[in-house]
Amino acid sequence: MTKTDVLVPTSPENAAAAFGDGAGITVLAGGTIVMPDIKLGRRRPQRTLYLGRAGLDGSYRIGAATPVAVLVDEAPEPLATFAARVGDREIRGQATIGGNLCAPPAETVSRGDLQAPLLALDARVRSVGVGGERTDSIDDFLEAGSDGRLVLELLVDEPRRAAAAAVGRPHAHGFTILAIAAAETASGIRVAVAGAGPRAVRAPSVEQALAAGASPGEAAQKALDDIDPQDDAVASAHYRRQVLPAVVTRALDNLS
Ligand SMILES: Cc1cc2nc3c(=O)[nH]c(=O)nc-3n(C[C@H](O)[C@H](O)[C@H](O)COP(=O)(O)OP(=O)(O)OC[C@H]3O[C@@H](n4cnc5c(N)ncnc54)[C@H](O)[C@@H]3O)c2cc1C
Repeated sequence: MTKTDVLVPTSPENAAAAFGDGAGITVLAGGTIVMPDIKLGRRRPQRTLYLGRAGLDGSYRIGAATPVAVLVDEAPEPLATFAARVGDREIRGQATIGGNLCAPPAETVSRGDLQAPLLALDARVRSVGVGGERTDSIDDFLEAGSDGRLVLELLVDEPRRAAAAAVGRPHAHGFTILAIAAAETASGIRVAVAGAGPRAVRAPSVEQALAAGASPGEAAQKALDDIDPQDDAVASAHYRRQVLPAVVTRALDNLS
């Protein structure tokens, strides 16, 4: 294993300064993805920025290094329910919301499950990096990707109503097959899907159908207009296509 300098900032400002433009920096939060990558030689960080002491844990203004386990008790729905489904107790204690948001796509499974409730909640993402500090909508942040950004915090408002539904997994180390987050925010009902591809996506056709007065079952049929499920190690694209409308219906039924 090659040596790496480990930077341990003790405030968000120090973390931002240490990150700079992100060149040559590997951000280490909970490390549940990064540490196995290093051990297996998939990453060879020159400098590692550890966020565990950076004062980036907190809630509602959710600090990027907030453990997923904390979200289970303290986050608004549907984020809390999604957090409760990440891995097992040990993973949830170590994994952070920032690491989940920025989880790079894996070849064999879907991860970054919390992106779906963050999309449904219309979260904002405050980050620093090239060009300085900025706050993006979650949609814009996920579209642009997290390369060169250090996420400082997520900003979420309590929704009027929220719901979640998912295809059950055989055990806690099984990754997500499909999970749906729905929330009524100030801008209307937002619906997002995790597990269908490398990152979570919204289902705008479902949202538009609901706004036009469609029933949950009718609106859910539109999910396949937006989402093209993919194959991975836990489920086939065919299976996901078959069950997606039913799981979306279940989430929307839970919303009413
Ligand atoms: C057994 C097991 C089960 C798992 N089950 C699930 C599951 O059910 N659902 C799921 O979604 N994931 C799952 N994962 C994947 C992973 O644990 C989670 O996605 C976790 O939330 C990642 O967070 P972390 O803090 O550990 O990230 P890290 O490993 O520290 O980092 C992950 C990535 O994000 C970057 N990063 C971290 N923090 C920031 C930041 N603040 N700003 C910018 N970039 C940052 C890192 O550089 C790295 O690229 C599982 C992993 C294991 C090992």
